[in-house]
Amino acid sequence: MDIMGNSISKLCLQYAPAAIAIVDMDMCYLAVSDRWINDFNLNGVEVIGRCHYEVFPDIPERWKKIHQRCLTGEIMSCEADPFPREDGGIEWVRWEIRPWHNERGEMSGIVMFTEVITAQKNLEFLNKDLESRVSIRTTEIEKIKNQAEQACRAKSEFLTRMSHELRTPLNAVLGFSQLLQMDNSSLNSDQNEAVDQIVKGGKHLLQLINEVLDLSRIESGNMDIYLRPVALDVMLRDISSMVSKLAKDAGINYVLGALDNLPDVMVDELRFKEILINLLSNGIKYNKENGSLTLQVRCDSEDYVRIDVIDTGVGIEKKNMHAIFEPFNRVVSPHDEIEGTGVGLALVKKYAELMNCHIGVDSQPGSGSRFWLTVPIVSRVSVTN
Ligand code: ADP
Repeated sequence: MDIMGNSISKLCLQYAPAAIAIVDMDMCYLAVSDRWINDFNLNGVEVIGRCHYEVFPDIPERWKKIHQRCLTGEIMSCEADPFPREDGGIEWVRWEIRPWHNERGEMSGIVMFTEVITAQKNLEFLNKDLESRVSIRTTEIEKIKNQAEQACRAKSEFLTRMSHELRTPLNAVLGFSQLLQMDNSSLNSDQNEAVDQIVKGGKHLLQLINEVLDLSRIESGNMDIYLRPVALDVMLRDISSMVSKLAKDAGINYVLGALDNLPDVMVDELRFKEILINLLSNGIKYNKENGSLTLQVRCDSEDYVRIDVIDTGVGIEKKNMHAIFEPFNRVVSPHDEIEGTGVGLALVKKYAELMNCHIGVDSQPGSGSRFWLTVPIVSRVSVTN
């Protein structure tokens, strides 16, 4: 029977981008598309006129039942049906089977459409596998993060409690020894010297406790930073009046550069002062006899001002440049006897980051160092808002 009639229908079927087979009531092939031949490895096999079950002798019973149902007029389909392959693998197929009728309206056979979707299905499996692995990993990461956060909180609480426990008796020691310093008439010179040592050691310990506490607060995200517009010239004059006295006592010449027409900056005033005082007091501490310390401000950008703290001191070797911003890294030689905790610059860097500032250093060992800081200017937008 020539069910395809004209050559256009034949062409459409042959080149249809799907595997299509038309069979009669005895399941004998009347026509197939090229894709059917390819998908079912039938190249070189004569199928027209032969029974489907002869071409595929191993066809499972369940399939024969489906054909039978469709030969009685039912339309059946499946989105993904697994077929065991000869090599032991699985071929996934989407299919639809519909009855067809002749021009007199009589049931004449079925049309089978199939599409091999194994690649798509494998991708789906891979995706599901990946999703479940990602979900397991995410749970693990969350668990680790929670543990880390808990450890961090515990560390912070411990430090806060410890620093309180340490500071209270330490303040008492400092208080009483300062009283002894004030009324030193009853002490001989050795005893006076011992009291001076107690006060010096106590102050050093207090500073260390305060700095470590601040560092741990920043690390655990518990440091509150309030960014506000601050008049830079006023602040720098304030700081300079204090620093110039310290510098004079140490025999260092302090120079404050021009402060004309400076814009306001967006900083936390208290913490920003701590940054500058730290850099400037280092500039005094690590300076040479009769050295100089300069504070310079430049504003050649619309976004930030640059502050330079320049000293003519011992300088820093290149290999130590990074280490100085790490806590407890002192790179001065021990016999220099310069006092310090090694925490100041670590704090300075953390504060700078919290205030969107950048900090850096250029140095010449033996000639001096230049610590620089870029500080965000209060933008016109934030002022008008
Ligand atoms: P501290 O001064 O308490 O030791 P800092 O964190 O302020 O701690 O500085 C870390 C180290 O960086 C110092 O021990 C010192 O070796 C070095 N350093 C800091 N500032 C200067 C400077 N202006 N010149 C030379 N070395 C410096």
